[in-house]
Amino acid sequence: MRPSPFDPPDPRFVTTGEHPLWDEALAAVNRDLAATLPEQRPLCLVAYPGWERAPDETERVHVALANGDAHGDCLWPEPSAAGALRAVAEAAQDTVMELLWQAWPVCTLHGLGMHVTEDAGRPSWWCAGGSRPGDPAHVRAAIGEMDTVHRPRRPNRKRRKDRGPR
Ligand SMILES: [Zn+2]
Repeated sequence: MRPSPFDPPDPRFVTTGEHPLWDEALAAVNRDLAATLPEQRPLCLVAYPGWERAPDETERVHVALANGDAHGDCLWPEPSAAGALRAVAEAAQDTVMELLWQAWPVCTLHGLGMHVTEDAGRPSWWCAGGSRPGDPAHVRAAIGEMDTVHRPRRPNRKRRKDRGPR
């Protein structure tokens, strides 16, 4: 049976090496995902073909959950690694927040969802801070380095890691 023209086309999984800058950026974002949501499988890139009405349009690449589901805008080619990292981090955020129904990544000091910013030339996660004076907005970590601030402080705290595969 022919699919209806109104059905969205199936995406394909993008293979490593097709978009080296996005691969590198996604690896950094996946380190943050592993540090903050260890139960999630790594994000991946999927590509949808261009629209039928504009056959010359190149395919659109999205950041997707491991199952291929994506949400939000497609990625646009970026000339720099830092630009690619910001774009991939924002796209990953859209997909995770919309499809997993949770703010991500969350600042563990303030319980707030963070935003992509640039700090000393490095794409980073920014938190709006607390409502009290003296608790200002701050940069939590460079993107890809959330594991450096996400280790539990209390040694007796239960690690989520010991949940094995089903
Ligand atoms: Zn914070």
